Amino acid sequence: MDLINDFRDKDLIFSLSNLIQKKSKKPLNIMEICGGHTHSIMKFGIHKLVGKNINFIHGPGCPVCVMPRSKIDAAIKLASMDNVIFTTLADMLRVPGSTSTLQKARSQGHDIRALYSPLDVIQIAKDNPDKKVIFFAIGFETTTPMTAVVVEKAIELGLKNLFFHINHVTVPAPVRALMNDENVKIDAFLGPSHVSVITGSKIYESIANDYKKPIAISGFEPVDILDGILNLVEQGENETYKVYNQYKRAVKLEGNLKAKELIDKYFKICDFEFRGLGNIPNGGVDLKDKYSYLNAKFVFDCNVESKKESKACICGEILKGRAKPYDCKIFSKVCNPQNPIGSCMVSSEGACAAYYKYAKENV
Ligand code: SF4
Ligand code: SF4
Repeated sequence: MDLINDFRDKDLIFSLSNLIQKKSKKPLNIMEICGGHTHSIMKFGIHKLVGKNINFIHGPGCPVCVMPRSKIDAAIKLASMDNVIFTTLADMLRVPGSTSTLQKARSQGHDIRALYSPLDVIQIAKDNPDKKVIFFAIGFETTTPMTAVVVEKAIELGLKNLFFHINHVTVPAPVRALMNDENVKIDAFLGPSHVSVITGSKIYESIANDYKKPIAISGFEPVDILDGILNLVEQGENETYKVYNQYKRAVKLEGNLKAKELIDKYFKICDFEFRGLGNIPNGGVDLKDKYSYLNAKFVFDCNVESKKESKACICGEILKGRAKPYDCKIFSKVCNPQNPIGSCMVSSEGACAAYYKYAKENV
């Protein structure tokens, strides 16, 4: 089987599109949790293939989009200390904090490096024993195991100059927070793919049961997404609320046990402030107390006073599914990928960036 072409087969795409439109008899608000799905939906024009009854709500599943100003402000404070090499993944450099970005701090001479792989930070720490190296770790369950591997390696090697600022977030907590918000109207979920490879499909069962909403975990290709949507339409019409694992070629019921073991070994669940959603209980993870000596939040002073979000930016409403990027008055005019005002314009997985790239002309 060709894992790209077979899942982009034109005839299959059109027959799924026809089936969805035939079976969908009532409005259905589908939230795609993952930013990767938002990107695929806009890239392949899937929103135009599913008929008028289906409304996509772009959820909080991009780790860059949900990063609040306060974390960026703390990152800039750490990166601006003397004798520090600050490292993170590339997209974080452009996320706006209260008054600046890591990219601007870098242009002022601070040693801020974008990593291709989190493991590269080990070599940086080894090569610079006289510097304090800080790794600002981000991502949902997909990338948490990789950070756990870096922590494990740092401990094994006895590195004394490598510290971690952990900003990993979890998928189930913000989904529950959204469902508990009475102003948010979601009828069904397209479940994330990469995240589910790690977590497994089972973790969604309690969400589907508690809120009586169907969930289809799907891959990123057009056939995957349309197949997932068809299932959600059928479940919506039949009023069932099961978890459908469309992405069986990568997602198992229990997930990746080895990766989950690593996460449990080094991390504990904690509350996390999501941009636009506020503080979410159990929304993130941090290093376990016994690894506090590696935790930049304890080793350094990270306290900052952050400003409120720009009044013009409606990222929060978009992440809650209450608005679309087109509803933002400064979309594409003042705010664009070269000059992002809010986080949803930074990563290619952000809803505003995906609309800008693939559907700007609809404005
Ligand atoms: S890492 Fe994967 S699952 Fe997570 S937001 Fe990005 S594309 Fe989606
Ligand atoms: S277009 Fe820019 S300012 Fe508007 S909501 Fe999106 S990221 Fe925020």
